[in-house]
Amino acid sequence: MRQPPDPTETPHKPALRAIPPGLHFVSTPIGSARDITLRALDVLAGADVLVAEDTRTLRHLMEIHGVALGGRPLIAYHDHSGEGTVTRLLALIGEGRSVAYASEAGTPLISDPGFELARAVAAAGLPMTAAPGPCAAICALTLSGLPSDRFLFAGFPPAAQGARRKFLADLAQVQATLIFYESPKRLRALLADMAVALGPDRQGVICRELTKRFEEVSRGPLSDLSARYAERDVKGEIVVLVDRAAPVVAGADTVETALETALQTMSVKDAASFVSQTLGVPRKMVYQIALDLGRSETGE
Ligand code: SAM
Repeated sequence: MRQPPDPTETPHKPALRAIPPGLHFVSTPIGSARDITLRALDVLAGADVLVAEDTRTLRHLMEIHGVALGGRPLIAYHDHSGEGTVTRLLALIGEGRSVAYASEAGTPLISDPGFELARAVAAAGLPMTAAPGPCAAICALTLSGLPSDRFLFAGFPPAAQGARRKFLADLAQVQATLIFYESPKRLRALLADMAVALGPDRQGVICRELTKRFEEVSRGPLSDLSARYAERDVKGEIVVLVDRAAPVVAGADTVETALETALQTMSVKDAASFVSQTLGVPRKMVYQIALDLGRSETGE
């Protein structure tokens, strides 16, 4: 994240429009400092008050992009800052000030502070918006090659092994690409547990140091990844993704039970369509089972 300011860069020229009153969440780079958006720079340059999870990091980012702090207040805030800071920020927003909030890196609230503040601003009915931008989870999903139609961001798994195994078991059947953040020192243990709890053949992807010099993406079945990383001493920031579970193929007993329930309120035709859709079993086959159950379209 820390990169020296480049003196050959032209300092940011803020847009002429004033920053409207309210809370402005600002996403910041997850590695490459140049991933900041122009709007994020406008907000940082024009907000009346700046708030940051880490004031030094934000100061440094602004320095890189030639955004002057001037005499504006720069306040530290994270979700454990306590009610005093939230009350102070709500008062500033209530007075009509524009307040910009940036977390240490990436998008606030995504495994980062900001939720308590967003909740308080929403509850107070005050204005709030976001200058969107980098997020490691989304960047990793984009590069993973895994289905992106549905995904579940699971954040950091618990550090204790028992809790981590239960956490993974609860996610095992979720029909979505799973996205986790993990520290390099726990990657080995996580991959070993994943191979057991999610299945050795499930496709996994490890995205390391995204947008940085040593960016690396490794793909393979969880058992292979686990074996590969058991031998490696890994450093840097990491996102782990896992493909969804193969759909469970329902047996005749399951189809019959589902049909019996559905037939209490539906015609044979509708029950067959409903059960076929919910269990992912061909309609023709479900219809035949319904007929075998002694029913007919006329409900005899
Ligand atoms: N708010 C951030 C976001 O929008 O992605 C996440 C903050 S969280 C405290 C930090 C974790 O995000 C890291 O431990 C790592 O799992 C992931 N992460 C952040 N930057 C990353 C990068 N450049 N490459 C891979 N993972 C990254």
